[in-house]
Amino acid sequence: MKQELTDFLNMDLQFIRGVGPVLAARFCDVLGGRRVLDFLLHAPSSVRNRGITENVMDTTHGDTITIPLLVKTHRSGGTFGRSRRRPTQITCADKMGNSVVIQFFNSSYLDYWLNKLPIGAWRIVSGKIEMIAGRPTINHPDFIEEMQNAEKIPTNQAIYPSGEGLTQKTFANVRDQIFVALPEKLNGTDDQTREFFDALHHVHFPESNDDLAPNSTYVAKLAYWELLAHQSAIVLSRRKRDDAANHRIVRPKKYDLISKLREILPFKLTDAQNRTINEIFTDMAHDVPMMRLVQGDVGSGKTIVALAAAVKMAETGAQTALLAPTDTLAMQHFMKLQPLCDKIGIVCDILTGRDKGTSRKEKLISLRSGRTKLVVGTHALFSDDVEYRDLGLVIVDEQHRFGVTQRETLRAKGNNPDLLALSATPIPRTLSMTIYGDMDISVINEKPAGRLPIKTTKIPMARVGDLISHIRPQIDNGAKVFWICPLVDESEVTDMTAVQTRYESLNRIFKNVGLVHGQMDKKTRDAVMAKFADNNSDMNILVATTVIEVGIDVPSATIIVIENAERFGLAALHQLRGRVGRGNTQSYCVLIYGNNISSDGLKRLDVLCETDDGFAIAEQDLMMRGVGELLGTKQSGWIQYHFVDYREHRDLFRLASRAARDNEIDAWTRDLMSIFDCGVNVGA
Ligand code: ADP
Ligand code: MG
Repeated sequence: MKQELTDFLNMDLQFIRGVGPVLAARFCDVLGGRRVLDFLLHAPSSVRNRGITENVMDTTHGDTITIPLLVKTHRSGGTFGRSRRRPTQITCADKMGNSVVIQFFNSSYLDYWLNKLPIGAWRIVSGKIEMIAGRPTINHPDFIEEMQNAEKIPTNQAIYPSGEGLTQKTFANVRDQIFVALPEKLNGTDDQTREFFDALHHVHFPESNDDLAPNSTYVAKLAYWELLAHQSAIVLSRRKRDDAANHRIVRPKKYDLISKLREILPFKLTDAQNRTINEIFTDMAHDVPMMRLVQGDVGSGKTIVALAAAVKMAETGAQTALLAPTDTLAMQHFMKLQPLCDKIGIVCDILTGRDKGTSRKEKLISLRSGRTKLVVGTHALFSDDVEYRDLGLVIVDEQHRFGVTQRETLRAKGNNPDLLALSATPIPRTLSMTIYGDMDISVINEKPAGRLPIKTTKIPMARVGDLISHIRPQIDNGAKVFWICPLVDESEVTDMTAVQTRYESLNRIFKNVGLVHGQMDKKTRDAVMAKFADNNSDMNILVATTVIEVGIDVPSATIIVIENAERFGLAALHQLRGRVGRGNTQSYCVLIYGNNISSDGLKRLDVLCETDDGFAIAEQDLMMRGVGELLGTKQSGWIQYHFVDYREHRDLFRLASRAARDNEIDAWTRDLMSIFDCGVNVGA
């Protein structure tokens, strides 16, 4: 790609007029990156029509309207005493003389609003119309413009999925500036590149919701290119592995540590675990590196399988790095694996971003010397200054949390090391070939003996009181409870219970309730989590956001309550539910739903009440997902595509995968791979 274009795509959003570092950081939260390219790959989710209406009587409650209004009277909201909460009201009239009220609740910008709406002036106002006390009312209009500036209000406004502290106007401003600058950067580029950016232009300036549908011309084009990029990365990765030049020396084994491991385990491995371990060992004996994905439902015991692979590697003298998505999970793995390693004489260590100074230095030395045979950690494992003596195996836990790039960066620290990926998110069989085409797959389809299925029920929010009195005796008897509240998007008016409020109310009833959420610093969060996990502490309830979503293992927890369960995808709910039922006691899951639940939402919850089989749930998830209804793709537990829709684009999956296999991977395809961030470390 032309350097000028690449530079532009990589430009930090903070350099766009009106953005700056604060907004750029907020964009980063929403976009998953803060470059111009990250913005371009973030498509609007809907279109809001703001065509002009002249008569307010032609509209109904809930419509977004744009209407010329004559300002009649001002009534200031009170700022003290009992009238503190009274809104500022501006009464206007439309062209027919119908009265329309504009209300502001926040009095701190009062003068600003009143200046924008002087008495006797005509203004064009756009916002949501509501019937309040029988009068058409607009609360906090989105736009107020003088009549001659009517064109400043977009007729078809693209609505972007947003986050805290970012308005649609900010999105529109950034988009406009990017697309004003683009044509110059595209000068002299080839047709394919221009066609790609032209498709992006159409998607960012949609005229109607039809333009954003998965099968609309431009969305489908982009989805195809995105799939082509991913499928090509898979093909390259396979070719590279099979390339004779990459064959490695098969390491000799000296001891039989594996039988020792079996002896010291406090339980017998399941058949499925044994089968998976055998598949892994066979791969490890080949001269081409292993690339194996282990799919096993939550609680199926993937960690021990990973340990077996690490032990096998250690007895050849080589090292294993186990990559976990969070510090907490890394710590948990370490606490579990270290004592076992100790017993069989393998040095196991942990390395996270929290290791600093001398302690970190010592750990690095031990890794470099080859003394440490198993290192558990986070992204810190592939920091520049981390060196391994002989990294033979990379294990990626909760693999959907990492991109190909990250796993390859870690693999690059060794000489063609084996790769073992673990995933608790079952991918429907119909899709796994196209998603994980470069991997061999083992399935652990069996839970350790003695596990009882989790009893799952759903209740409306109104019955929370009943629920509390119901579980009270169990809590008094020492049952441990996870209480999950979804993250609230503050800018939205929703009926969701904020984590904090729920925490306070539960803490009034039960003492010793713990609270963890993403905004807390990690140290405090881990301390609370550790206290909850500790059987000797009296903390019986842990109120949490989805920071506990993946992997946390507290075998004594037997109840999980999930509020606003309709906000989560099926896969995410199944994951969350998997936090209980990890011992041999009967466990329970209660799904609480809000008033606004749709019939699709109810159906989703029913699936969970009926089945415990992760694969069946994954199939249903794919078929039933009401995408718009969910809190965000992050919580769905699926691989995140920008334009691809799993349900609607199955044909494109097949087309792209065939094209990637049969055609030469040309310069343009490589550009696509770097645009979609899936090829950087793959291939030549
Ligand atoms: P996941 O597959 O979700 O990562 P873990 O590896 O965390 O599951 O295992 C869940 C729990 O089951 C752990 O406490 C683990 O020690 C235990 N476990 C694993 N395998 C067996 C087994 N074969 N028999 C009994 N318990 C087991
Ligand atoms: Mg796990």
